[in-house]
Amino acid sequence: MKIVIAGSGAMGCFLGSKLYEQGNEVLLVDNWVDHVKTIQEKGLEIIDDNGSHVDLIKSSLPKESKGEFDLLIILTKAMQTTDMMKSCQHLINENTYILTLQNGLGNIDILEKFVPREKLIAGVTTFGSNLLGPGKIKSLGSGIIQMMQIDGIDSPMLNNINKAFTDANIDCTICDDVMKSIWTKVTINCVLNPLCSVMGTTISDISKYEGIQDLYDNLISEIIAVAKAENILLDEEKIKSMLTDLFNPSVCGNHIPSMLQDIQNGRETEIEFLNGTIIKLGKKHNIITPSNNQIYHLVKILEKKAS
Ligand code: NAD
Repeated sequence: MKIVIAGSGAMGCFLGSKLYEQGNEVLLVDNWVDHVKTIQEKGLEIIDDNGSHVDLIKSSLPKESKGEFDLLIILTKAMQTTDMMKSCQHLINENTYILTLQNGLGNIDILEKFVPREKLIAGVTTFGSNLLGPGKIKSLGSGIIQMMQIDGIDSPMLNNINKAFTDANIDCTICDDVMKSIWTKVTINCVLNPLCSVMGTTISDISKYEGIQDLYDNLISEIIAVAKAENILLDEEKIKSMLTDLFNPSVCGNHIPSMLQDIQNGRETEIEFLNGTIIKLGKKHNIITPSNNQIYHLVKILEKKAS
């Protein structure tokens, strides 16, 4: 398959390298000049549990990228989707499918402005990856992908993409309710990311506080109410159990969530597409969201201070 990764940072390089190693033709597109140049000159270095290896994979700036692709996987941060899609128009044609595995709410609405609904696939991934520097990533262990074509069709291309991931040893499934998967992941992100960002520390540090569940219960209840108003029925018990596992001090390790990494690096965060969107949708449905509102503004203060 000919695949372009639009936004080749931590997650884009990770998935791009997996698909490349399985024999797909992959182009990593990114606008970070040093990163692209390093990959062009030395390849992409991947550090994982087995050590380190280098993939001699193609990389390009958007304006210098060429070719026509079967699949474009968009993996910018949510607030960068519009700019990325504008600069990748020449890489897609009427047969190209677009897959988003980004976090947050609203990515599908943005992508629908650029491609017809029947070419749009959305999903979630629980894989983790860190960008260590230009041309260098660290894979953070195992995970899964769940995805679905937005129009609900089980197309041959959707199955080809599923096979490409599976062949690359990625645990991928085609699900029948991707919006529920996206909202479930959003709920987790709306808890973990802003709490660690506001406290300026790791999940592991936060998990040691015995009152942690009291802290996030209201955030979850508000999100579940807003989701319900949007016709998404979330499984509250499942989400709470996922959070209990994530906040288990013996397993959660010293991971710094991406939102805190963004604040530490003076970058904009995905808060507008997480708690920010919950607040907006709450207003639309007359549902009050005071806990999400409070944490949203605290993150905005940090964002402003760091920029
Ligand atoms: P990242 O910031 O590491 O990568 C995004 C890349 O996009 C950057 O390299 C940036 O230079 C590039 N970019 C941004 N705007 C661009 C533009 N207009 N043109 C060209 N390149 C552009 O982000 P990430 O951690 O890889 O996350 C990507 C998405 O995946 C996010 O929605 C994130 O929440 C989600 N996600 C990340 C992880 C993870 O572990 N990293 C896990 C699950 C989901």
